[in-house]
Amino acid sequence: MKRIGRLGVMGGTFDPIHIGHLIAASEACSQFKLDQVLFVPAGDPWQKREHADPEDRFLMVELAIEADPRFAVSRMEIDRKGPTYTIETLELLRRSHPDAELFFITGADALALLPSWYRFEDLAELTEVILAARPGVEVTVVGGPGWPKIHPLEMVPIGVSSTIVRARIRADEPANYMVPARVLKHIGDSGLYRDGAA
Ligand code: ATP
Ligand code: MG
Repeated sequence: MKRIGRLGVMGGTFDPIHIGHLIAASEACSQFKLDQVLFVPAGDPWQKREHADPEDRFLMVELAIEADPRFAVSRMEIDRKGPTYTIETLELLRRSHPDAELFFITGADALALLPSWYRFEDLAELTEVILAARPGVEVTVVGGPGWPKIHPLEMVPIGVSSTIVRARIRADEPANYMVPARVLKHIGDSGLYRDGAA
């Protein structure tokens, strides 16, 4: 196995995973010379309500990344009991990869929430942040004392969100190419997102 010196970490609900996540991970890998991007689906998102079961969300990430040797997916948050905090995930990764530099990949909307994170003040010594722009999301003033180092990611803007994908499935509109074909097939086969709020 290749030694991981620079590890990208992409947290999210992935409800479902879509091209915005995948392109951000791919660009992060190439622009910051990451050895791997680890997708970490949230088990019990504490800041938002989830729609699909964690096992479905995990499986969809697996289906989406399987063919890409740069990507891997972890069950660590799904298997952890109770609310999962990113800071604890990063601490566990620091322990399992003591020599690796960690890069937490996040979109602009999620970055704005960072100061509200549990133990925000411990973040800076654990990880640097790679920031992906999101169309329609203004990057307000972030960074400064107490913040981790933030590296902007260059990326073609992708306006897809999981919310849009769920709404399209519910409305019986195509989500083809917004999510990988195998993910779309799982959504169709399992009846995910057919009813309920988007
Ligand atoms: P939802 O609409 O349910 O909130 P989402 O599309 O925002 O879903 P998340 O799982 O909440 O997806 O996002 C995980 C991470 O990926 C977050 O840091 C988010 O900002 C980032 N992200 C999601 N979509 C994009 C996108 N289109 N471009 C760049 N980053 C994205
Ligand atoms: Mg989101």
